[in-house]
Amino acid sequence: MTTRHGLLIIISSPSGAGKSTLCQRLRDWDASIVSSISATTRPPRAGEVNGTHYHFLSSAAFHRQIDAGGMLEYAKVFKQFYGTPRAPVEEAIKAGKDILFDIDWQGCQQIQGSTLGAHAESIFLLPPSMQELRHRLEQRAKDSQEDIDHRMRKSWGEISHWEDYDYVLVNQDIDQTEQDLIAIVSAMRLKPHYRHPQLRAHLRHLQQEHSRA
Ligand code: 5GP
Repeated sequence: MTTRHGLLIIISSPSGAGKSTLCQRLRDWDASIVSSISATTRPPRAGEVNGTHYHFLSSAAFHRQIDAGGMLEYAKVFKQFYGTPRAPVEEAIKAGKDILFDIDWQGCQQIQGSTLGAHAESIFLLPPSMQELRHRLEQRAKDSQEDIDHRMRKSWGEISHWEDYDYVLVNQDIDQTEQDLIAIVSAMRLKPHYRHPQLRAHLRHLQQEHSRA
């Protein structure tokens, strides 16, 4: 293997904890990080673009993709299906690129249990308070009041899985959380596992030098 294996960076949180903003900031920090574009049966929100924010699919098309083995993982979240198309992930990691997933705890568990699990690291984002979570959901004004209430009721189901993650951040201050996220990704990349080809070459040099000494 000459190319390093790409790293799968999974971020989960209840809706409104700041996940999308932080994912964007991580990509601004390193534009080589690829975002996994999920498929969903949820209708697009105002301003969402098919193929950029999500692949918006009918329920039939979504299930056809599952049946064809085309989803790396999928789950029902807030009454709709969400899933990760497999091919772009496999392409990115084969090319040595790190790939970022904004998915829920069910998807995280499925990826961790898959053959790619050994290359995945997971981060959970907690809100500073439930009151702040509701405030952020209302402020972003993307969903109906009914949808916000539903997301708030379901938020504990997501939060209760926090301990299953490799890292947990409390998003009190977005700039600080961004710094912590960058530190986590930087540390992940230093694991011998991900630096494998690069380290192999360096070790060969060290060994040659050592045997000459
Ligand atoms: P939203 O409707 O707000 O865009 O997303 C709702 C939830 O679905 C979020 O918590 C998000 O992380 C999760 N989600 C988005 N895409 C996927 C996916 O591909 N798989 C899974 N399992 N969850 C997803």
